[in-house]
Amino acid sequence: MNSQLKNRLTVFGLLLVLFIPTIKSQDNTFTIIDKSVNFGMRVASNRNINSIIVHSTFNNSGGEKYDIDLVIKQFSYYGVSSHYVIGRDGSIYLLVNEKNVAFHAGKSELPNGQTNVNSISIGIELMTSFDESPTCAQIQVLVFLVNDIQKRHKIDYILRHSDIAPIRKTDPWNMDWEDFLKKLETTEGL
Ligand SMILES: [Zn+2]
Repeated sequence: MNSQLKNRLTVFGLLLVLFIPTIKSQDNTFTIIDKSVNFGMRVASNRNINSIIVHSTFNNSGGEKYDIDLVIKQFSYYGVSSHYVIGRDGSIYLLVNEKNVAFHAGKSELPNGQTNVNSISIGIELMTSFDESPTCAQIQVLVFLVNDIQKRHKIDYILRHSDIAPIRKTDPWNMDWEDFLKKLETTEGL
């Protein structure tokens, strides 16, 4: 092996050591579990997504309150859904493909006056209840997911449900929103 090639291989090896662990940890940490639904949604094509709306949800109909299947059953009863639900352990459940409309916002309004929020947004539900905060894993995954969505769509607004429907809605509950925004800013471009 000549020394030039040897140097190149050494540099390549160093790059591998430097970069692979980061990529690997992202892949390993954030798994998306397919829980596609055919209710509470509308098939769409070429929609213009400009906002991400964060919610809280839990199963309030008896049984385990953070059971994803019971949460989905409750969504079906009310004819609602969201694109993603984040479980207490940081699992990401995909209910509706981003290209389709999910019925998560209800009667609401963005700061720019747009009221067709479902049509132009992506909804993310955190599994929390009235008396519990989101877990660290949930916030970490939310930061990752929002960053990831921002790579695919030009997002103008990242808002709470209570920001767009302040009279009707109080979710996401018990969440330190400012701290989440700060984390989002510091991990931008991950
Ligand atoms: Zn909500």
